[in-house]
Amino acid sequence: MYQDVQLYIDGAWRAGSAGRTIPVVNPANEMVLGTVAHAEQSDLDDALAAAKRGFDTWKQMSAFERAGIMRRAAQLLRERAADIARWMTLEQGKPLAEAKGEAMSAADIIDWFADEGRRAYGKLIPSRIPGSYQMVLKEPVGPVAAFSPWNFPINQVVRKLSAAIAAGCSIIVKAPEETPAAPAALVRAFADAGVPAGVINLVFGDPAEISEYLIPHPVIRKVSFTGSTAVGKHLASLAGQHMKRATMELGGHGPVLVFDDADVDTAATQLANFKLRNAGQVCTSPTRFIVQRGVYEQFVAAVVATMRKARVGDGLADGTTMGPLANERRLRAMQGLVDDALSSGAGLKLGGERIGDRGYFFAPTVLTDVAASARIMSDEPFGPVAVINAYDTIDEMIAEANRLPYGLCAFAYTRSARTSHRVAAEVETGMITINQIAIAFPEAPFGGVKDSGYGTEGGAEALEAYLNLKYVSQLDI
Ligand code: NAD
Repeated sequence: MYQDVQLYIDGAWRAGSAGRTIPVVNPANEMVLGTVAHAEQSDLDDALAAAKRGFDTWKQMSAFERAGIMRRAAQLLRERAADIARWMTLEQGKPLAEAKGEAMSAADIIDWFADEGRRAYGKLIPSRIPGSYQMVLKEPVGPVAAFSPWNFPINQVVRKLSAAIAAGCSIIVKAPEETPAAPAALVRAFADAGVPAGVINLVFGDPAEISEYLIPHPVIRKVSFTGSTAVGKHLASLAGQHMKRATMELGGHGPVLVFDDADVDTAATQLANFKLRNAGQVCTSPTRFIVQRGVYEQFVAAVVATMRKARVGDGLADGTTMGPLANERRLRAMQGLVDDALSSGAGLKLGGERIGDRGYFFAPTVLTDVAASARIMSDEPFGPVAVINAYDTIDEMIAEANRLPYGLCAFAYTRSARTSHRVAAEVETGMITINQIAIAFPEAPFGGVKDSGYGTEGGAEALEAYLNLKYVSQLDI
């Protein structure tokens, strides 16, 4: 049963102080599933005061003790993954297996950060002065404000939350109003594992009102946001005005380079399946397929053949491989981008329109020979649409990959070590995966460059984002 979702502030679940709620809609059938509580400013004040107290408690605990509690939370999440996956599918639409995978991989992320927090070593710098010590200590930055989107309701929260609390910070999470039950279940696992009151606080409401209030607030010392580049730029500037550290994980426009010497069938199968994961609502989704002319026809045919096999339907139904889009906005965006491309002369090889008239289902879509002026060549589709164009030379392909201001994730397929090295060196991106799709592991960096943001949400460096360096120079007398 889907249950109404409440705020979690200072160790207690509660309604918003004005009793306002927001409906939560099942994107597979457009029915209201329940509600989520809407925080008022007084609730945010309570969350801020709790986060301040929670920080004072949590930072005093040893990293060893914190890691023990985090590992218990990870275990609870694993035990509850089946129920959580169901709620996630109901509110977000993704197939049940993807939802379960997300909950299980969140547990993996928690474990990894729990251990990494125990390795937040400082250092000792040899001193110029006899009898003097130069130490570098690492200290948690303080209470964090985190804003996460609806495409990975748990995964986008867990990276921020785990890194923050592993470092000894407290956190206020503004999780997505459209998909609130899954992040609430994540927070419940931490609460049940013994995280003290105030260390983790969960709020929902009006995203702009909450960010405008929390980011400038003196209690907040660090901001982390995942979402669109437009909102990210706004929040980054707000953080800058108030001298808050920030991590920004923003949009992309995944270039895919498939060279004449690639294993074309493997490339097409891997990329087409990844394209349809979460109905294409993935910031690292492959989008602009930049294919060398010699293998173009073969590649297009193989992508179409794989995408045609997708079974689109309710994520709870057996055999569904792609669910609906998460909200009505995406449906309109998809149709607008596809129609615009077709009106500028693109070829339509598959899909191109909504499926049915109930639920936000959009057909897996393949567009070819798309004009550079079409909007989809510059705007992130964030949906199940692949755009495939032919190019002659490696130089042209790399130039096309770098044409946009984005730089999140790129893909390349080639049997040539020389070409592999070239694309790795020359494509402007935070992540690139060559001859395979292998990203988003907890131990590996995850983040973008250029308009795709800054900072990483994976790897050891993700912890550094929640730590201050303190230099201590001490003379024994
Ligand atoms: P949007 O830009 O309005 O919202 C994106 C996310 O930011 C949502 O979770 C929203 O609640 C939050 N948000 C919006 N305004 C905010 C504010 N002022 N302060 C704090 N949070 C705020 O758009 P949308 O319709 O939800 O999604 C559309 C686009 O967002 C997509 O096309 C995609 O480019 C991007 N997006 C990216 C990711 C990602 O993983 N990087 C995830 C979701 C959406």
